[in-house]
Amino acid sequence: MSVSYHAAAVRWPGATRCIQPVAPITLVAVVAVVACVSASRPASGVEPADLARRAGLRVVGSAHLTLITDRPERAGDGVGDLPRLFDEAVSTWTRHYRLDAERVGAWRATGCLIVDRDRFRAAGLLPTDGSVPDFENGFCLAERFWMMDQSNPAYRRHLLFHEGVHAFTVTLLRATAPAWYTEGIAEYLATHRLQTDPPASPRFVAMPLPERPADVEQLGRIERIAGLRRERTMPSLAQIFDLPTRDHRDLGAYASSWAAVAFLSGHPAFREAFHATELQPLDGRLTTRLRATADWDGLRADRDFDAFVADLDYGYDFARMAIDWSPGGPLVAEQHAAAAADRGWQNTGWSLAKGDRCSFTATGRVTVGPASARPLESEGDGITLRWYRGRPVGRLLIAQWVEPADGGRPSFQILAQGASGTCAAAADGPLYVKVNESPGDLADNAGAFTVFLTPR
Ligand SMILES: [Zn+2]
Repeated sequence: MSVSYHAAAVRWPGATRCIQPVAPITLVAVVAVVACVSASRPASGVEPADLARRAGLRVVGSAHLTLITDRPERAGDGVGDLPRLFDEAVSTWTRHYRLDAERVGAWRATGCLIVDRDRFRAAGLLPTDGSVPDFENGFCLAERFWMMDQSNPAYRRHLLFHEGVHAFTVTLLRATAPAWYTEGIAEYLATHRLQTDPPASPRFVAMPLPERPADVEQLGRIERIAGLRRERTMPSLAQIFDLPTRDHRDLGAYASSWAAVAFLSGHPAFREAFHATELQPLDGRLTTRLRATADWDGLRADRDFDAFVADLDYGYDFARMAIDWSPGGPLVAEQHAAAAADRGWQNTGWSLAKGDRCSFTATGRVTVGPASARPLESEGDGITLRWYRGRPVGRLLIAQWVEPADGGRPSFQILAQGASGTCAAAADGPLYVKVNESPGDLADNAGAFTVFLTPR
């Protein structure tokens, strides 16, 4: 899958600009503008749709979008569906921000889907006065936006919705929030799949955390997060909060900002505080306001975020992956703990000091599935027909949360695996157990192993 990435949004009173996804590993210049720009009309004062028609450009529209393109009309390319899908997306954004539907009813954006920029410049639809930089893939200025045409229909739609979220939040909510939020929420609210059920028209289905790679062709964010982890360049949540706008120039920053918003929106410990914060002014104090919410624990948030991105995968199940960080008691005699197949890392309640050893034996059976029609039964060694992250699905894993001494973000370090064996503690802290399976496939698992732990 090729990756794409987004660059920066720079805000100033009454308008926003966003430089959008570009070809892989190409940096996009960010232009800081501090002047107030009135962007509702072209300089000529003539309605964009009229300018477009005079220039022989195609205009398609809906309640909330006028879309102008020089893209040759091709049967089945889906461009004619875009305005209707945009309206469906606007309904989702309206609910997200709990806006009054009547107020949103009159709201309208104008988007240019561009093959040849010169045609738009000549038509007076792409400013040449410097108010719009030479963007790579997309740019938003208040309720107007421009985007280069994309060969992939799913990615074209994603760009349209990403710019649409900027236009929506800047004009209706006067958003001037920090870059991690504005870009993260644009990614989050743009992510969707297309529900196709012929002969009915395709429908926009919000899918902020995608369930399958096929739903989000060419986005590559989950893969980029995994790459950042491998490269040991994944930022912490606190570092993402502080990302300056100028750093939003590559997929890493965009993927990180999306991950931060997805995490805060989905994690049971943070989602209420986050959403309550989103319903307040989306201004430069958004992060400060979030951190000031009752019960906000920055260290806990950082740790839960690290755990989220370490295990992030399609369909990530927040409720089943939530982690109990309590310290546990010292393991000084044989103890046992359950390892449920339908949960992520589970605290055994028993801790070891770094270097201490213990032996373990897992009894019982669990069911994992159904990847096929029939669920599979597993003992502690796992099922060698199916693998996840290099280990058989259904295998018992034993781990500790470890802060790496040589850099990189902390994560669960697997100490041992299988139905029985020994392990040596890599850190001071509790032992965690898990039945190996994708964090998006836990819901249809059942049963638990009983894991006996004996100090040695
Ligand atoms: Zn953007």
